[in-house]
Amino acid sequence: MAFAEVDLTKDAQDDSLKVVDILLAVDSSFPFAHAFDGDQVGLLIGDANTTVKGVLVTLDAGLGAIARAQELGANVIVSHHPVRFNSFGHFNVTHVANTYPERILAAALSADIAVIAAHTNVDVAETARRYWGDKLDFEHLGPLPAVITELGFPRAREEQTASDPYGELWHVNNPRSLNQLAAEVAGFTGSPVRVFGDGETMIETIVTATGSGGGRIPEAQVANADLIISGEFGYHAALAAVESGLTLIELGHDLSELPLVDFIAEAIHVRTSIADDKLHIEDRPKLWRSVSAGAKPIDD
Ligand SMILES: [Zn+2]
Repeated sequence: MAFAEVDLTKDAQDDSLKVVDILLAVDSSFPFAHAFDGDQVGLLIGDANTTVKGVLVTLDAGLGAIARAQELGANVIVSHHPVRFNSFGHFNVTHVANTYPERILAAALSADIAVIAAHTNVDVAETARRYWGDKLDFEHLGPLPAVITELGFPRAREEQTASDPYGELWHVNNPRSLNQLAAEVAGFTGSPVRVFGDGETMIETIVTATGSGGGRIPEAQVANADLIISGEFGYHAALAAVESGLTLIELGHDLSELPLVDFIAEAIHVRTSIADDKLHIEDRPKLWRSVSAGAKPIDD
């Protein structure tokens, strides 16, 4: 990659910090080369040689983040999720008024804001993978072994590859019920969690995975796990899990990944000369909320 040729050892002043330095900082903690095949990571919009006026780190580079960056005088957004998940084909701005993600791209371009995405290269990093298990004080057993399902049933596979889905396997020394654990987890997210399965199930072996965890169900079954804690599960995946006796705690995709935003900001803080007042983390509320019949929203 071209940006890898820049000399990181130079004693850069803050006003000479370039977009490429932000890329290098993210790359040194979360190598872009570790991203899954086809994932749209790196500099998605902008010029690597632009001088950095300020950086906003966020989960999603939406219109809100662009407005916030402008308000803060920042001209670089580093988001966890790519603005778009497939590669660019046609980008015709005459038709973008109401479409996502084109309108985001158009807004960033016209505001002269560079957009960097650090997605699966962060998801697969040890710090990200271990976040929830360490937070909940579980005992780490190791990465969740990948499985193959071509034979019509899940079977453990010998070797893990770089682009295998990520998940971690944990053990709890003081087994507690699903309901108890769910309440503990909700205490950390500050938001209600969704729970699938019998609340009295005693939990000893757990899988954690940030983001979308539905794909981890066959692996969790092969690993004899009692529970998966993840950002979200599709309904039919959850049904399959519950029918097999596997329980689930759903944190909300965004809430499960907000710690990753802090990790990205930390990498930029540690590896560049950026002034503290030029590095911002977007303080965005979660995208969703829970409302009960006849009640006010319980977690606004
Ligand atoms: Zn995600």
